[in-house]
Amino acid sequence: MDRPTPPEHPPGDGMYFKLLEDDGHEALERRRRRQGGPGVSSSRPPPGFYPVVTVCLASLSVILFISLIAVTAHYQNQQRGGESSSQLQTQDANVSALVASISQLQQEKKKLQEEKQQLQDQLSLTKAPGVVPPTSPPIICPFDWLSFDTSCYLISRNSRSWPEAKSFCESEGAHLAIIHTADEQTFLWERLPRGHWNAYWFGITDAQTEDQWKWVDGTPLVGGFWEVGEPNNHINEDCGYIVKTQVLERVAVRSWYDAPCSMYLPYICEKEAGPGASTALPH
Ligand code: CA
Repeated sequence: MDRPTPPEHPPGDGMYFKLLEDDGHEALERRRRRQGGPGVSSSRPPPGFYPVVTVCLASLSVILFISLIAVTAHYQNQQRGGESSSQLQTQDANVSALVASISQLQQEKKKLQEEKQQLQDQLSLTKAPGVVPPTSPPIICPFDWLSFDTSCYLISRNSRSWPEAKSFCESEGAHLAIIHTADEQTFLWERLPRGHWNAYWFGITDAQTEDQWKWVDGTPLVGGFWEVGEPNNHINEDCGYIVKTQVLERVAVRSWYDAPCSMYLPYICEKEAGPGASTALPH
């Protein structure tokens, strides 16, 4: 290059090198003009070109920035719109469910009002003079008596002969127990305490005619719950008793025996349950 050797000047003197650059550039330009080549000045933009380009680029940046903001805002609005639509659908479903619940409750209310009216009608009928409401008799038994079906039973703690026990039961408005069904027999047997030979008189005898057993109300015995081999009238045995022992294999429906009526044994009284049954004193 034709750049002259710079004189010794302190480094950092930029103006000096700028002048040299300009001088060198102009000299190169002049040489190119002389040789007929294209000059550097022909590729330079006209004056004012860069400011215009700068302004255009700045304007374009501003337009792009504004467009970006507009697109972003539009997208967010669309999202909000979608969310709002979903919320509306959920609210519609909730409203529909509430309407259905209200309708169902109204129907139940109507039904309850009808039932209430029916009950009030029945109540007014029962309160009307001369009308007796249908009721079942209350099961009432005296203190210490057991209740089963429509009867009350007393299992005594003391012992009497069969005739004495019969009289005692009658004094209580009762009778020695008359047992017609296996359920009744089982109910009583299960309530007797176990022991070596716990025997209880009940209301059966063949004292009038041997081997013709009758209940204390005079009706003949049909069937019965005798132990195998009983009654045997072994020692002139004309009264019947129920026994419960420690032997677990024994069963309620084979627990009757006959014995002399003079024996002292506990006993079982029976009377009909009801308001009159509770008048007796506790035992
Ligand atoms: Ca007998």
